[in-house]
Amino acid sequence: MISRDVIPASHYSLEKHSGLLFHPTMMALPPILNPWTTIKAIWRLCYIFVQYIVVAIFKPPPPKHADPLPNPYGRVAVIGAGLTGVSSAAHCIAHNFEVVLFEAGSRSSLGGIWAHENSTSGLQLNSHLYRFHPAVVWRNAFPLRDEILSEIARVWEEYKLESRTRFETRVTSVKRADDDQFGRHQWLINNGEEGPFSAVIVNIGTCGKPKWIHLDGMPKDKGEQTEDSDNPTENNGSVFKKPIVHSSELDSDAVSEEAIKGKRVVVIGSGASGVEAVEAAIQRGAGGVVMIARTDKWIIPRNIFFDTFLACQPFGREMPLSFLWEAFLKQWQYYGVKDLVPMDSGLFEGTPVVNDAFLGHVRSGACRYIHGDPVRLTEQGVHVNVRERGTKLDDKGRKETISADLIVLATGYEKPSIDFLPDELFPEGYQRPDLYLQNFSTEDWSVLLTNSAYMSAIGTVGHFHIGIYTRILLTLLLDPNTRPIPKDMKLWVDLISFLKRGAKGGPLGFFTYAELTIWLFMFHLFRPDRLRWLFFIMFGWGIHGDLKERKRIKKTLTVKASKHGEPAPKSDGGKRKIRREKGH
Ligand SMILES: Cc1cc2nc3c(=O)[nH]c(=O)nc-3n(C[C@H](O)[C@H](O)[C@H](O)COP(=O)(O)OP(=O)(O)OC[C@H]3O[C@@H](n4cnc5c(N)ncnc54)[C@H](O)[C@@H]3O)c2cc1C
Repeated sequence: MISRDVIPASHYSLEKHSGLLFHPTMMALPPILNPWTTIKAIWRLCYIFVQYIVVAIFKPPPPKHADPLPNPYGRVAVIGAGLTGVSSAAHCIAHNFEVVLFEAGSRSSLGGIWAHENSTSGLQLNSHLYRFHPAVVWRNAFPLRDEILSEIARVWEEYKLESRTRFETRVTSVKRADDDQFGRHQWLINNGEEGPFSAVIVNIGTCGKPKWIHLDGMPKDKGEQTEDSDNPTENNGSVFKKPIVHSSELDSDAVSEEAIKGKRVVVIGSGASGVEAVEAAIQRGAGGVVMIARTDKWIIPRNIFFDTFLACQPFGREMPLSFLWEAFLKQWQYYGVKDLVPMDSGLFEGTPVVNDAFLGHVRSGACRYIHGDPVRLTEQGVHVNVRERGTKLDDKGRKETISADLIVLATGYEKPSIDFLPDELFPEGYQRPDLYLQNFSTEDWSVLLTNSAYMSAIGTVGHFHIGIYTRILLTLLLDPNTRPIPKDMKLWVDLISFLKRGAKGGPLGFFTYAELTIWLFMFHLFRPDRLRWLFFIMFGWGIHGDLKERKRIKKTLTVKASKHGEPAPKSDGGKRKIRREKGH
C-alpha cells in the first residue's frame, strides 16, 4: 500500500471527496474493468439513495409559485443569506409564514462564508452531517465550495426565495413597532419599508471579515486592511516586503503560481484555517511550509463514525472518562507527532480541527510545526519566540527568525456584530452565547439567533437543528400557550450554568450535538402543553397553511384564549396576556 503522503494531490482529492480508500495501482486498469470504479459508483449511489429517503420523509413542500402567500400565519425577517439564513427562510415559507431575507452582500454573496472561500476549501465533516435543509442532496462525501454553494442556491430557488431576498441591504437597526392583532409587538427592520415582522431570525454566522493581526515589520498597506488597525509600526525600517495574505486568499489572484511554487511559506495560526492553509500551500507546490502555533488544537480524523460518536457525548464538557478519547486519538492520529498533542486543553473544551492530511505532512517533514509566538516581521521572514511544548503564551523561549517568501495569516475571522438588535434583549449575564436554548434572547423569544451565538462546539453548523429552531419559533408564534416568559428563559440559562459550573470557557461556551438534542427534547418534556407540537418541531410534519389547517389553528387559538378568560384573537383583549409574556 502506497503511503498517503506520496499520493499525488489529484489522486488524493479523488479519494478525499468520494470518502473511500483509494489504491493508485487501480488507475492502471481501463475504467470499465476497474473494480474500484464499480465500488465507487455503488458507494455513491447508496450515499445519494439514503439522502433521497431523508428527502421523502422530511422535506417540507416548497411553495408552488413565487407570489406572496395568500394567508400567511405571520411574517418573519431573516437576516443573512448564508446557508443558515436560506434554510431558515425555506422552513418558514414551507410552513406558511411569509419571509423577507436581508443580505448585506450582493447576489454573489448568496451562501455567506462559502461564497468568499477558496475553491479548494471543502467540508471538514462528512456531508451527511451537513444536511442544512432536508431538501439537500450531496453528491460527494466531502463536497468542495462550489458544490456547497450550488446546493444553497438550489434550496433558495426551489423555495421561491429569490423575490423575497433583499441583497445589498445590511440590517443596521431592528426596532419594536406597535402590537399586532394578537397583542404581540412587531419588529421593524432598518427604516421599516418592508413592513412589520412577527419575529426576527438572525443568521449572520460567526465569521465576519477576515481578521488581520498587526505585527511590527508589516508593511503599512497590509496593516491598513483592518478596521481597527492604528498605525502598524515598521520595525526600524526592517519591513517584510514579500507577499502577506490572509488564509482565505490562498488560491485567489492574491497568490500567483510563481509566488508559491517552490517558495517558503510561513503560516501563522494553528486553527482550522491554518491547517487548511498548510494543505493548500503543499498542494500548490510550496517548497517548504512552517506553521507557527501559539496553542495546540485537537485534530480529529475525517471519519463519520468517530466524529458522530464524539458529538454524542451528552455532557458538553470534559468528564472523568474523556481521557479515553484523548488516549485513543494519541495512538491513532498522533503517532510519530506526539509533540503536537495539546497539553493544556481537553478534547471537550474547544472546537477540534477535522483533518486527515495535516499530521501526515508534519510527520513526513513537508511541514515544520513550531510552538511559539510571532514577535515581529523582518526583511527575511518572521521573528519567533519559540517555546517548549506545554509552555504558556508569551512565556520566555528561544528567539529564531524563520525565513519566508510568503506569509499566510491564518488568524480567523472577526465575529459579526449584533449591534443592530436592541441592547435590552441581552442583559448582563445573558449575552451570546448564554441565551435561552443557546439561541433565543432570554428577554424575547421572537428573536432567534441560529448559528450566530455559539462559540465552540463538537457538532455541525449545518444540520437538522436549523429546522428545529425555526419550527420552535413558528410554534411559539402559532400557540401562545407554548411561549416561555423571560424569567423561565433566564432560569434555563441559570440551570445550565449550575450544571456545567467550572466548565472551561463558560457553561454555554462549548457544547456537543447530543447536549443540544437533549435541550430540544427537554423543551417539550418540561411543558406538556408543547407535546402536541413535538412531531412538527422535531420532524417538520404538518403546518402547511391549507384552509382546513388554518381553520383548525384559529379554532385552537380561540378556545385557548377563551379558556384563559380572554377574548379570541382579533379583539384587543389579547394584549393583557401578551404583556405578561413579554415581561414588560
Ligand atoms: C473552509 C470552511 C470549512 C468549514 N467546514 C465546516 C464543517 O465541516 N462543518 C461545519 O459545521 N461548519 C463548517 N464550516 C463553518 C461554516 O462557517 C458554517 O458551516 C456555515 O457556512 C455558516 O453559515 P451561516 O449561514 O450561519 O453564516 P455565514 O455563512 O457566515 O453567512 C452569514 C451571512 O450574513 C450576512 N450578514 C452579516 N451581517 C449582516 C447584516 N447586518 N445584515 C445583513 N446581512 C448580514 C453576511 O453577509 C453573510 O452572507 C466551515 C467553514 C469554512 C470557511
